[in-house]
Amino acid sequence: MSQPYSQPYSPYRSAPQQRRRQSLFSGIKLRLLLAAGIAVFTLVSYAMKRQANPITGEAQQVDMSVNEEIMLGLQSAPQMGQPSRNFAASQRVDRVGHELVAALERQLGAQGIEQPYRFEFHLLDNTGQNRDSVNAFALPGGQVFITEALYRRLPTDIDGPLAGVLGHEIGHVLERHSAERMTSGSLMQGLARAAGVAGGTRGSQQAAGMVAGLVHKSYGRKQELESDGWGVKIMVYAGYHPEALLTVMDVLEAASPGSSGPEFMSTHPRPANRSDYIRQIIGEYFTDGDLIGLRD
Ligand SMILES: [Zn+2]
Repeated sequence: MSQPYSQPYSPYRSAPQQRRRQSLFSGIKLRLLLAAGIAVFTLVSYAMKRQANPITGEAQQVDMSVNEEIMLGLQSAPQMGQPSRNFAASQRVDRVGHELVAALERQLGAQGIEQPYRFEFHLLDNTGQNRDSVNAFALPGGQVFITEALYRRLPTDIDGPLAGVLGHEIGHVLERHSAERMTSGSLMQGLARAAGVAGGTRGSQQAAGMVAGLVHKSYGRKQELESDGWGVKIMVYAGYHPEALLTVMDVLEAASPGSSGPEFMSTHPRPANRSDYIRQIIGEYFTDGDLIGLRD
């Protein structure tokens, strides 16, 4: 394509050469400007998503309402797998789960806090996508799941360990961890896009994506420990000895090699380390006297 030269003639450099240099330079400048724009927009819109958690009162970066979380959870629940055909076991999961929620609501009610979520507890068949998956997880808004493979490894003569698993998952819902993750996911995507534009190569975009992944892992760990804290508290509110959660950690430790799941295995810190943490939080929240007479 030939165009009439708009640049003044330079005796040292041919006009096409000079133009090439200039357009290269302005191309880089434009890219940096664009990247800075995307980064600023991403950070500002992330900062504007600050909300107070309805239960803990803590400020969080969440860009959906509680009702949207509930809707999202209800919509996604059928995709989590087939319900178990073991009716008695499903009923037991439902009973222990609602017992925990009732105890939690009594406790929060005494503090003048109303919990807004709609909890439902599901035992999942271990076929299809959940084949051999030793796992439990929660969707935003209160849909809680445990797979038969994890359920079968827990003691059946006492309810405490099952209560520990479900209490931990209730904790993820109360702390709005999924919603927080989705919000930080869009922050990371925005920043990764900005980095990709500035670097101008696919490689730097991939590198930025990996950084986003790493940040997610560390969020995961903090969130897991927060949920263990809730697990301990809710168990005690419902009259279970919180050390039953340590039994769950032993079960997970034994099941760890070779198995993987989206929640309990991949994102959870090593069960042995968590046991120490759980002992520590039991000591922080409760005295020995508080724990006398609790059931296993
Ligand atoms: Zn968890």
